[in-house]
Amino acid sequence: MARRELKQDPVLDTTAWLRGLPKAELHLHLEGTVKPETLVELSRRHEASPLTLEDARGLYRYENFLGFLTAFKAVTERLKTPEDYELITYNMIRELAGQGVVHAEVYVSFGIIFYWKKTDVEPYVEAIERGRERGEKDFGTTVLWIVDAVRHFGVEEGARVFRKAAELRKRYPSIVGIGIGGDEARGPADQFRDLYKEARDAGLRLTAHAGESVGPESIWSAINIGAERIGHALAAQHDPELLEILAQKQIPLEINVTSNIKTGCCKAFDEHPVKDYFESGLMVTLNSDDPPMFGSDLLGEYCLAESCYGFTLEQMRELAANAVEASFLDPTRKLALLQKVEQYVGPMPA
Ligand SMILES: [Zn+2]
Repeated sequence: MARRELKQDPVLDTTAWLRGLPKAELHLHLEGTVKPETLVELSRRHEASPLTLEDARGLYRYENFLGFLTAFKAVTERLKTPEDYELITYNMIRELAGQGVVHAEVYVSFGIIFYWKKTDVEPYVEAIERGRERGEKDFGTTVLWIVDAVRHFGVEEGARVFRKAAELRKRYPSIVGIGIGGDEARGPADQFRDLYKEARDAGLRLTAHAGESVGPESIWSAINIGAERIGHALAAQHDPELLEILAQKQIPLEINVTSNIKTGCCKAFDEHPVKDYFESGLMVTLNSDDPPMFGSDLLGEYCLAESCYGFTLEQMRELAANAVEASFLDPTRKLALLQKVEQYVGPMPA
């Protein structure tokens, strides 16, 4: 593919350049994309004395992991009706498009709906599909869904979630894959081996959060049950043999730098292995996880990679291409997006 030369311009506005770079987001939780403004709107729908914008912003300013969980709970508690899910889907796509994100693969937690809300997921899927279709039409960013089970709710809950995903996939082809999130220590990936095989046989793609809060063994397990992409993979840095396998097999890593710092899984920005991974030839992609809750977004993560880790703009282009390559898009759209990334020169003059 012909690649345009990137001119080194001393007055280049890096943020504008990175905003214009066609980016794909592969690790984003629908429930984690709700901004304070939308939380206020949800609160107005459901509460006699709704949250003010100041209250909502306050919830997103926290000091520790418990504060993050409180914020996440404040959101999920107020996601009550299918219409709420339609609203957050549409708003998410608007936000993504504003950052120059052309495609996103978004985790939606059937686990939360089944387990906490104890209700059928189908009306919720219809609703996020309405939001997706409207959002794609208005803003141009495409979205595929990855149905996420909460691993520490157990294998039986996982089976319900994945079988529902397989069933709904027949009607909604935008449901493209499955994953496991939640507490790695209480829900080892090995337990999900048979379910992953079953999901694969049903045509679903496989991902897993692994090596975020526990050691490299969790990543080994995820690979061994067939995960095609690894969410976080922070702990791989402690296992040279694993790093070799990840490089050799080019298993895409969904890296979430700011998330790892804010949850305390990584102590400091200069201790994060993102640049080492990249330089060791691993298939690195940048992602934002639960952006407003971590005070970041995908554009912010790209800016951080440039300013904090010294990625050059050509390397940023490579990261963007990696994300498209690692996506579950069909080959035609993948190729079209890869061409856009390769030929990108910079933002249009205002
Ligand atoms: Zn995640």
